[in-house]
Amino acid sequence: AKREGGAALRFFDHAMQASVTERAHLEADLDRALEGSELRLFYQPQVDTTGVTVGLEVLLRWEHPVRGMVSPGVFIPLAEESGRIVAIGGWVLESACQQLAQWAEQPRRRDLTISVNVSPVQFRQAGFVDSVREILARSGADPRHLVLEVTESLFLQDPEQARDTMLALSALGVRFALDDFGTGYSSLGYLKRLPLDELKIDQSFVRDLLESSADAAIVETIIALADRLGMRVIAEGVETEEQANWLREHGCRRFQGYLYARPAPLVSGKEALPGFPS
Ligand code: C2E
Ligand code: CA
Ligand code: CA
Ligand code: CA
Repeated sequence: AKREGGAALRFFDHAMQASVTERAHLEADLDRALEGSELRLFYQPQVDTTGVTVGLEVLLRWEHPVRGMVSPGVFIPLAEESGRIVAIGGWVLESACQQLAQWAEQPRRRDLTISVNVSPVQFRQAGFVDSVREILARSGADPRHLVLEVTESLFLQDPEQARDTMLALSALGVRFALDDFGTGYSSLGYLKRLPLDELKIDQSFVRDLLESSADAAIVETIIALADRLGMRVIAEGVETEEQANWLREHGCRRFQGYLYARPAPLVSGKEALPGFPS
């Protein structure tokens, strides 16, 4: 048994070593991706009860020349650890705001919102508020159409600083959505102290909605909570008509998921997203 353990340990060391090398490669590649043009923005529609697109969430993609499409679930944690997320996140914000400014010129698109995921690392940067202010000024985007998606993890470490930053951004007119709501470990108390406009029901609750009475209870409670607190609520990961019907019947008014559209690039001028006003 001892020998087996030794072998397993050596194997483990080897696997670890490989992953460290792998990570070093990916990190070096990430610098190149940022300088070059390997990062792509995909957009996923958010629809109202009639299926019309009212907003879009920006989702980052990395088109690696050798590895193909690298998932944000893989490279965002790496980018957070190395601090590269600050530059990447800035680029995402800038692009989203330029898109908003373009849509502002188009009567049928001028009311669309864009939701941008913001990493806690990026959010806690000393210059974050200033950089958002500058991006808004440079692009000419209407801040009320920009929604920053933050997660509960932001409020675990230094909630006072997070709150100050949110209030400063809120004063600029920027909106906030709380992403993956219900999956974190923080208390509910922060909900009343923060300038939140929207709760996003995590897709893990939506997935088994019709089979699990616990998930159904959680979703009903989130909808009621958002309602009572005067926040909007959006369900993410909606994949079936049955889920959408249940959510609608229980008062949810906004939806996002494969049922409506998968994240896709916007092809300038001829966006092919369903329900997207042309
Ligand atoms: P998220 O913000 O919770 O984004 C939702 C994820 O669910 C996306 O995965 C989306 O493609 C996927 N999704 C959408 N509809 C459905 C559905 O109906 N069913 C299922 N099963 N999945 C659906 P994606 O694009 O792989 O992104 C993963 C995570 O990476 C995001 O989770 C977000 O936390 C992070 N991320 C993506 N883009 C950015 C970014 O620009 N900045 C930062 N900081 N994080 C980002
Ligand atoms: Ca999100
Ligand atoms: Ca989410
Ligand atoms: Ca998530």
